Amino acid sequence: LEVSLAELLKAFGIGAAAVTLGVEWVDWLARRLSLRRGARGPLKEVLFFPSPSACVEHLYAPAGALSCSCPLPHGVDTPFARLLGHLLSAGATLDLCVFSFSNASLSRAVLLLHSRGVAVRVITDREYMTIVGSQIGTLRRAGICVRHELSNAVHMHHKFVLVDGKKLLTGSLNWTVTAVQSNKENVLVTEDPDLVGPYQEEFCRLWEASDPTSQNQSDCHQGTAGSQ
Ligand SMILES: [Zn+2]
Repeated sequence: LEVSLAELLKAFGIGAAAVTLGVEWVDWLARRLSLRRGARGPLKEVLFFPSPSACVEHLYAPAGALSCSCPLPHGVDTPFARLLGHLLSAGATLDLCVFSFSNASLSRAVLLLHSRGVAVRVITDREYMTIVGSQIGTLRRAGICVRHELSNAVHMHHKFVLVDGKKLLTGSLNWTVTAVQSNKENVLVTEDPDLVGPYQEEFCRLWEASDPTSQNQSDCHQGTAGSQ
């Protein structure tokens, strides 16, 4: 009787191990499947600022084999580098709605996209346009379309960007050096059409509402990849 009990316990132990292994295998399989599902699903990313300082020269010239000799750390993936990478991924359109725009690195990115033929549209705050350090004048001189809230009474306080009409970056971040390097800020990046769609509609609504001539009301969707 004792022997059979020992055998029974042994068998039970093996059975328990098999059940444990089975559970772990099922768990492993479930995680693999959910990872695969995630890879197929729309992009989701959250960036928090301030961002550590690091060299981003390679992002402006990805094909350039030149090694940068600036004193900043190289090869570091920072929130700012991620943000810049998303912006520079634009191939057709960039619709930007931002209250304050004085960050020269971000201005350089927008100018680079413009020079590549990307259709750039910028909506900014009326008062901020003329503030010292604002990049808006630089963008306008380069031929980029910039509009501002026509009313004096309210601010255009949004901070969001639409890349090719299918990727949205939105959050608290103004396009200033202080916001990027010092402030506690957040940016959400998504390609979820349920979120991108309303933002694209809002951009178009504001673009038309900010048209000083109120003539070209039909060109809003020009160039924006049909995300509607
Ligand atoms: Zn460098």
